[in-house]
Order: sequence, then C-alpha cells, then structure tokens
Amino acid sequence: MKISLGKFRKIYDIAVIGGGAAGISAAINGKAAMKDVVIFESDEPLLKIRKAREIRNYPGFPKATGEEISEAFLNHIKEMDIDLKREKVTGIVREKNFVIYTQKGKAWAKTVILAVGLKSEETFPGEEDLLGKGVSYCVLCDGAAYSGGKVAVISDSEEGEMEAEALKKDYGCGVVYIPLYELKSSDASFSILKNRPLAFKPREKGVEVEFKDMEEGLIVDGVFLIKQFTSPGRLVRGLKMRGRHIAVNRAMETNIPGVFAAGDCTGGPFKIAKAVGEGQIAALGAVRYISQLDSQKMEVKQ
Ligand SMILES: Cc1cc2nc3c(=O)[nH]c(=O)nc-3n(C[C@H](O)[C@H](O)[C@H](O)COP(=O)(O)OP(=O)(O)OC[C@H]3O[C@@H](n4cnc5c(N)ncnc54)[C@H](O)[C@@H]3O)c2cc1C
Repeated sequence: MKISLGKFRKIYDIAVIGGGAAGISAAINGKAAMKDVVIFESDEPLLKIRKAREIRNYPGFPKATGEEISEAFLNHIKEMDIDLKREKVTGIVREKNFVIYTQKGKAWAKTVILAVGLKSEETFPGEEDLLGKGVSYCVLCDGAAYSGGKVAVISDSEEGEMEAEALKKDYGCGVVYIPLYELKSSDASFSILKNRPLAFKPREKGVEVEFKDMEEGLIVDGVFLIKQFTSPGRLVRGLKMRGRHIAVNRAMETNIPGVFAAGDCTGGPFKIAKAVGEGQIAALGAVRYISQLDSQKMEVKQ
C-alpha cells in the first residue's frame, strides 16, 4: 500500500532569507518567541562582517575584528539550534503559505523576512519589461511553462550549468547556454554560445537575445537569467521597492502582508547595529502576524 506524505509537509513559521547581521538577529528573535525558524544563506553566513578588519561601534565589543563578531553571532544561532540552510533562494511565491524556491528544492513558511543585504545587480536592456513574459530568474518556479520549448540560460556562475541540465532533463527543453564567466567543463549536454548578450527584445512568440557582432539574434521561447545576486524586487513578485531598497514602514512590513524586510536591503545607514535592530523588529512583526493568522482560524472554527 502506498502512503502519501504530501499532506504532512513541514511549514516553517518564519523563513529568513539571508544569513547576515539582520537575518541572524531576525532568526534569534523569532526562535526566542518559540517560532519554528529557518535561515537560507546562499554564501558564507556573515561574510560582510567578516571582511571588517576592526569594528568599534558595536555595543559590547569596543574593539573587535569582524571575525570575532561573526563567530559570536554564529555561536548564538548554534546555541539556539536554529536551522541554517546553505541554499540560494531563487524565488518566493505567495500561495496559502509562502513557497520558497531554492536551487535545491522548495520550502514553505507562514511568513518571510527578507534580509538579503545590498549589492548592485547588472540588468540587460529589455530585461525588466520582459519579466514574467519570457524572462525568468527561477527554473523551479517557471521551468514547467517552457516544457519542450527552446530556452536560453544566461549565467554569471557555474550554478547556471545545473539549471541548464534541469531544463533539459526535467522539462525537455532545447537549451542554449550562455556563460558570462570562464566556462571550465567542455562536456556539457547542451549547446554553448560564448558571446555577451546586449539586450532582450520581445518577439511574437518569445524573446530575441541580441549579441555584439551578430547580425541576427537568438530567438527563444524563454530566457532564464541565473545571477549570483537577485535583487529582492525580482525575488518576490509585486514587492514594492524604493529605488534599490525595499520599501518598509517602521514595523519593517513590506507592501505584501506576511513579508518583512531588514538590514542593508531597506536602506542606510549601512551598519551592523541598525541591521540587528531591524531584524528584531521584523521578527516581532512576523510573530504578531502569525498570532493574527491563528486567531482568524480560531474564529472560523467557532
Ligand atoms: C569591509 C566592511 C567593513 C564594515 N565595517 C563596519 C563597521 O565597522 N561597523 C558597522 O556597523 N558596519 C560595518 N560594515 C557594514 C555592515 O557589515 C553591514 O551594514 C551589515 O553587515 C549588513 O547586514 P545585512 O544582514 O543587512 O546584510 P549582509 O551582511 O549583506 O547579509 C545579507 C546576506 O544575504 C545573503 N543573500 C543575498 N541574497 C540571497 C538569496 N537570494 N538567497 C540566500 N541568501 C541570500 C547574502 O549572501 C548575505 O550573506 C562594514 C561592511 C564592510 C563590507
């Protein structure tokens, strides 16, 4: 007899995206309020702080190296037994709960705290206009929409090679792989085009990728852009941004109910204590939001 476990999937209370100062503070505060918390971190946690040679403005540490402060933060989450997953989040979709897509799979959470820091992200002309209309950042979220079609995968890291494989094997796509880095392996099962794209243009069916020194562009059904850093506005569709920063109120709420943000991604000053404080406010907001959800369910039952 086959038993389906599909119904019993784990749903975290709070998914924190980013393991920097803001994310770690949010996770500690969520866990202190007895919530089930997970942190997703695409790189080394606390890498930015680690780079600081000397930190003189963090309370309790009059003169510490970045390494010392990061160790103290990491020991704290270990001590509290907080789940830290070394996975890059590629997309977040709101269903009944939030679905968090990563390179390795997906997870579910009642609330999301975005603590992704701030990096500049290069965009191609035409990319923004075609988002959701032929351009995607997440194979797991959107791959099925291009099943059996022809797609281009443009990537700034080796991670794109796995995504190209997945599009070929899992979705039966014809894949043209365009590496924006020095490609090492030569035994790839998809075709490779070593030329830097210039722009994307909408075509009757799909997208044209234009290149330097190529008279005709590449016409495909869809383009997957795999970037090491995806700006939060692209990670969560419909998220309101203020320039490069996530728009939040003083409770660290974004325009999407249940999604909070903290740290450098909400704007300056770009300081550890500010990130930690915002992480705490975001976690308290998430806890409050979960209580509201629970009381609504109680009312429906009565
Ligand atoms: C060299 C240097 C020295 C500094 N010195 C000081 C100082 O002396 N005092 C001070 O107060 N501040 C200092 N700062 C600034 C301080 O480090 C930052 O303000 C603080 O670390 C911001 O924390 P954050 O959590 O908001 O962002 P970050 O520390 O940038 O953390 C964001 C995390 O999110 C992860 N992430 C991003 N996207 C994803 C995704 N899609 N999926 C999963 N994970 C993702 C990133 O990998 C990153 O680890 C310094 C910064 C630098 C670079």
